[in-house]
Amino acid sequence: MRRGLQPVMEGARIERVELNRPDLRFPLPEGFAARLAGRRILGLSRRAKYLLAEIEGGPLLICHLGMSGSFRIEEPEECRIPGIFHHERSKLVSHDHVVFHLSGPDGQTRRVIYNDPRRFGFMLFAEEGAASHPMLAGLGIEPTGNALDADFLRGLFRGRIAPLKAVLLDQRAIAGLGNIYVCEALWRAGLSPFRAAGTLAVPGRRASGKRAALADAIRDVIADAIAAGGSSLRDHIRTDGSLGYFQHSFSVYDREGEPCRRCGGTIRRDVQSGRSTFHCRSCQK
Ligand code: ZN
Repeated sequence: MRRGLQPVMEGARIERVELNRPDLRFPLPEGFAARLAGRRILGLSRRAKYLLAEIEGGPLLICHLGMSGSFRIEEPEECRIPGIFHHERSKLVSHDHVVFHLSGPDGQTRRVIYNDPRRFGFMLFAEEGAASHPMLAGLGIEPTGNALDADFLRGLFRGRIAPLKAVLLDQRAIAGLGNIYVCEALWRAGLSPFRAAGTLAVPGRRASGKRAALADAIRDVIADAIAAGGSSLRDHIRTDGSLGYFQHSFSVYDREGEPCRRCGGTIRRDVQSGRSTFHCRSCQK
């Protein structure tokens, strides 16, 4: 999503912000529209699942999509929804809560519209920058970077009897790694989500090989997802205004009862700390 928004938002001036309601999951900050109007967006970055817009002479804008939020780019000639989502995004105008009217460095005017039927998403200002904001300060490492390797996982897993999946979902350890991608990464690495994390931190080449395979699987799963989202940017909307539904090619997630793509076993769904875990008992040990 960030990659889709970046060319449109970076360097653009926010002419005005239209608010169709005073709150999302949280109330919008005091003077939200007035503090952004007339200012240039210097950069658009991401930390974990937060989108960060650096505003010239203004606060840092933090956005989170929650469960059902999406951004839509409207230009005079076309409309795009950057990103790829498991659930189809709403296009109902009644769910358009925040509209950024932008003018690009190219002179083109565009609207970037935040739509969110369930309103679990939010927008906040970080006055002192990202590092000290309470939502961002305690986050763990990014799953896409070199910091995630077999050694990092040994430190994370050592002595832990908690299930592997629960440890990987902890945002204070690895940030932005959610339920879907943990399920997928564990399947790719052939590891059971129920295995005690500490069993992968024992000395020896066998455990270190498994940790390395898991680190690779996590990085690859995220990289594949970003690549798939990027490819959706080239698809234009259909004439009825919908973007269509881009079917994910998950290996285990949401495939309960279907055959495992590696061993032919049956994919199971179990509930683990209130979340669905999809896995293959035959080839994930
Ligand atoms: Zn299998």
